[in-house]
Amino acid sequence: MLTTDGTGRLADILLVEDNEDDVMLTRKGFQRAKLKIHLHHVENGEDCMAFLRKKGSFATAPTPDLILLDLNMPVMDGREVLAEMVQDDALNHIPVVILTTSEDERDVLEMYKLRCSAYTTKPVDFNNFLKVVQGIADFWLTLVVLPPQR
Ligand SMILES: [Mg+2]
Repeated sequence: MLTTDGTGRLADILLVEDNEDDVMLTRKGFQRAKLKIHLHHVENGEDCMAFLRKKGSFATAPTPDLILLDLNMPVMDGREVLAEMVQDDALNHIPVVILTTSEDERDVLEMYKLRCSAYTTKPVDFNNFLKVVQGIADFWLTLVVLPPQR
């Protein structure tokens, strides 16, 4: 079982995604990776920022160990989220993995300029989608040293 700090605490992953099918596939991918985690989900950037800042109904939300961020979403998109996070000293230590259908080189460049931790694209094929999520889980939750909770 994954523990991020040796205390038995499960990693908190925040998935920011407006597409229900992609949410379901991401859950399945984590299940396949055989990692017990807490997967939290919000549907747009505005709720993501509220979650991160523990505002309103997110008052008891944990600070996530990792964020999986979609780019194209209603209300507030992933580009705006990352631009806001990078300016915020309370949030800019949290690793952000972009998970998007956009293969636009401008998006890739812009997100790395905003210091995203990694940029990945969603395969259309079901099994390949699961493999991408499994790969993210294996790398970020077993190999990488994540920042300590603060
Ligand atoms: Mg989307």
